[in-house]
Amino acid sequence: MDATFPSRDLVQARTPLRCPVCGGALEETLVRDVGGVTAGLVWQLHAGRCPEHGWFQTEVISRPPREIFPVNKPFGAARRMVVDGREVFSFPTVWNTLPLAQQRQRVDPLDERYWRIAPMTGEHEVY
Ligand SMILES: [Zn+2]
Repeated sequence: MDATFPSRDLVQARTPLRCPVCGGALEETLVRDVGGVTAGLVWQLHAGRCPEHGWFQTEVISRPPREIFPVNKPFGAARRMVVDGREVFSFPTVWNTLPLAQQRQRVDPLDERYWRIAPMTGEHEVY
């Protein structure tokens, strides 16, 4: 079998990652296992493409990701996006907004509830 991708990449992988703009499911999802060095450490890169909004990726290091980043290709460079007339370099997740005490708890880093994009309201709103 010819391997188009290195074996450490899972193609069409299951990932909690969704498009941070429209919340839609992503296509061509990729999960790259970076960890495996330290026992028990989850260290993965997740990427996927929204047909409308392009590629996104995030990094999981034993905890749910704090931010989802728009990128020009899987595991590529960050790109700038304009959403509702505002420049966006990253999309903070629900996990990012939790109190520190809660973030210290051991949770499933792939629990999709934490991967949702935090509502852009309150102090994060810029007018
Ligand atoms: Zn989208």
